[in-house]
Amino acid sequence: MTKHNEWNLDNSYQRLPGIFYSRVSPVAVKAPILIKLNESLAKELGLDIEELKKEPDIFAGNQLPEGSVPIAQAYAGHQFANFTMLGDGRAVLLGEQITPEGRRVDIQLKGSGRTPYSRGGDGRAALGPMLREYIMSEAMHGLNIPTNRSLAVATTGESVQREIDFPGAIVTRVASSHIRVGTFQFARQWGGTVDDLRALADYTIDRHFPDIKEDDNPYLSLLKEVSKRQAALIAKWQLVGFIHGVMNTDNMAISGETIDYGPCAFMNSYDKSTVFSSIDVQGRYAYGNQPDIGGWNLARFAESILILINEDEQKALPLAKEVIEEYVQLYDQNYLNGIRKKLGIVKEKEDDTVLIRRLLDLMEQHKADFTNTFRALTLDQFDDNIRLFQSKAFKEWYQQWQDRLDEQNESKEQVQQLMRTHNPSIIPRNHRVEEAIEAAVSEADYQVMDQLLSVLSNPYAYTADQEPYTIEPPDSDDNYQTFCGT
Ligand code: AMP
Ligand code: MG
Ligand code: MG
Repeated sequence: MTKHNEWNLDNSYQRLPGIFYSRVSPVAVKAPILIKLNESLAKELGLDIEELKKEPDIFAGNQLPEGSVPIAQAYAGHQFANFTMLGDGRAVLLGEQITPEGRRVDIQLKGSGRTPYSRGGDGRAALGPMLREYIMSEAMHGLNIPTNRSLAVATTGESVQREIDFPGAIVTRVASSHIRVGTFQFARQWGGTVDDLRALADYTIDRHFPDIKEDDNPYLSLLKEVSKRQAALIAKWQLVGFIHGVMNTDNMAISGETIDYGPCAFMNSYDKSTVFSSIDVQGRYAYGNQPDIGGWNLARFAESILILINEDEQKALPLAKEVIEEYVQLYDQNYLNGIRKKLGIVKEKEDDTVLIRRLLDLMEQHKADFTNTFRALTLDQFDDNIRLFQSKAFKEWYQQWQDRLDEQNESKEQVQQLMRTHNPSIIPRNHRVEEAIEAAVSEADYQVMDQLLSVLSNPYAYTADQEPYTIEPPDSDDNYQTFCGT
């Protein structure tokens, strides 16, 4: 049936060898209601908003958009360092939308029923966590951080059984692709041949890195490109205090986008050991560990493609090692450049690192709020009630920082402008996110969420309506916990 909502779907992933996916249809639900549609994203995708609003069935999996041939993707992964077979256990890829600008993006339903990769799971998702994913991913987009996005949320009219019953929902996600480190691990270590692996690598290069296709060793170039994107991405996370929470290799996208918004949350007080995820008891994915985990995941990616880099893996090993060592430097560069901008520093000087280290140490010591400290520096307004700002050590640091800025030719306005574009005035604070979800789930009141999404869409605006959202949680979220797979 042709629908006039401008779907323009291709299914290129199915031109890969069959081991990489299973044909599967979303399982129809009882009573779909489209409760949230991302209109600006829909426009970017070339979709007709008014038509889409009449189509809750598509966003619940009860009807396929024109051109869709749905699949679940196969992948493996290291979950908390344990290698295992995974795959889309509650997601289906409807197809790849070719946008009016010619971009190719995956359109995926999450929570759409069981698949061959569901293991013991029910294939379903609860409304609260799907709204949380919507809010967090759109907040990341607002922060200019590469991420998959949320197009829609539909409720199913069914309940999902967890510790108690919750209303069921499905989120529609949009991503550059869902090719993961774990997809390569699957090809290399879970029954794929070298030809399968090469097909995946070539597909990935065509889709994400066409410029390296003619390189002498495109697979080594692939490793380098993935390294570059991860270094840039994780530096961006660190610079806004984003804690992903579950950086398993299956949750690291080759595209360099943030994916898998299960247990993520933003840090309040600056503390490198911050963890929110209830299952991360060892703190493997703590804020301060994220850059190293990026390197660890990259090493798993490298291992998977060694044989493509050189058919004698021993010969490929030193080449791969070099790239992984470079990752550490690339990350440091990205992070340092970013934090210089957060401090209004235009040209780099070697001992900037001392100035930066000192500030972070003081923040940690005084449990200062990460976002609000940089916000105060940006506005040059310091609340006397904040312990950090009362301290003599901070006052000394402030003077050193001012001296450093005085060495530059930039005016005070130019410095402030630079700082404003790198220090968000607001982040999705955990208590605000919970409040929005609570209103939606308990009272079907979506205004709280819409208001939150609206301010988060431009966190660098420093407008008056953002002020209430800058307030820190009363208890610094000390006991706040997040969950995977709910
Ligand atoms: P995650 O922790 O979100 O990366 O999920 C890990 C794996 O568990 C993925 O393969 C998911 O598809 C799968 N999974 C999570 N929740 C469910 C569920 N309710 N039903 C089936 N599979 C699930
Ligand atoms: Mg995942
Ligand atoms: Mg997840």
